[in-house]
Amino acid sequence: MKPSRFDYLRPRTVDEALAMLADHGANDGKLLAGGQSLVPMMNFRVAAPAVLIDLNGIADLAGISEDGDRIVIGAMTRHNDVKAHPLIARHAPLVEAAYHHVAHFTVRNRGTLGGNLVHADPASEMPMIMLVLGAEMHVASAAASRVVPAEEFFLGTYVTAIEEDELLMAISLPKRQAGQRHAFEEVSLRKGDFAVSAVGAVADIEDGRCRNLRLGLAGVSDAALLAHDVGGMLEGEMLTDRAIAAAGEAVVAGIEFRGTVSVSAEYRSDVTRELVGRCLRRIHEGAAE
Ligand SMILES: Cc1cc2nc3c(=O)[nH]c(=O)nc-3n(C[C@H](O)[C@H](O)[C@H](O)COP(=O)(O)OP(=O)(O)OC[C@H]3O[C@@H](n4cnc5c(N)ncnc54)[C@H](O)[C@@H]3O)c2cc1C
Repeated sequence: MKPSRFDYLRPRTVDEALAMLADHGANDGKLLAGGQSLVPMMNFRVAAPAVLIDLNGIADLAGISEDGDRIVIGAMTRHNDVKAHPLIARHAPLVEAAYHHVAHFTVRNRGTLGGNLVHADPASEMPMIMLVLGAEMHVASAAASRVVPAEEFFLGTYVTAIEEDELLMAISLPKRQAGQRHAFEEVSLRKGDFAVSAVGAVADIEDGRCRNLRLGLAGVSDAALLAHDVGGMLEGEMLTDRAIAAAGEAVVAGIEFRGTVSVSAEYRSDVTRELVGRCLRRIHEGAAE
């Protein structure tokens, strides 16, 4: 199918884009980033924006830099550029690990981190990674700017805290602290597909005991989740087989799993329990991923 008729605007600066959003955002205007989710939705007429505001001419919205103890990623930075960036490898290795499971090379060449986060597919890896790492979303409208913590950004399936007249400008991540370990595990039906279930985690191991665990899940609920309880449950504990098994049980007990045409709720629950266990074992063993 072809999209329904729309007007096309191509701002050259952030100020121009914000002015266009102020004019059209509340009136069926939509931002276009990589187009890897929006354009298929338009072709199927699930989305029918009256005005498309194309961000691809604004160079200032892309790029990765350091800001003290944080890494700042411009919203229009392509997935593959984030995945391969040396600052990400050094300071946010969990992002790089998870990117191995995001879509295919050609989709990652065009799709952007910002578009991915605003699209907020519940089976998408990056919203969950942003929760685990404690990212902050830098958002602006023509009238004001604000910073939204990841935990307040992802509200539901395809729903975020961003308003119709707001643009996601950048994402900032705290740099990994020395010694922090990380792990990422996913099951999808085919390589590059969205997750049936994905688990990401960071933690410190001090004197053999788990500290500051943050464990997130994707693909198992209406939005990416942080399993707060399991962090508290394992704080100061040794990651023994028994503790890991109990953590897996606790995580799945807190989720109401749903089945789909291809995957039953029971299968998704079993896979999630297993992936939580694998992540915690990797963290215990100090694996690089
Ligand atoms: C075959 C295929 C497989 C895929 N597999 C995966 C996968 O395994 N995991 C995964 O996570 N994703 C996957 N994707 C989706 C891919 O990651 C997309 O790139 C992403 O979801 C959307 O990013 P985009 O830059 O293309 O955004 P677009 O499609 O251009 O936009 C998406 C939405 O975000 C809004 N938006 C975009 N940028 C901004 C901004 N800066 N501020 C405010 N609003 C904005 C748009 O208005 C739109 O509503 C897949 C896509 C395809 C086609």
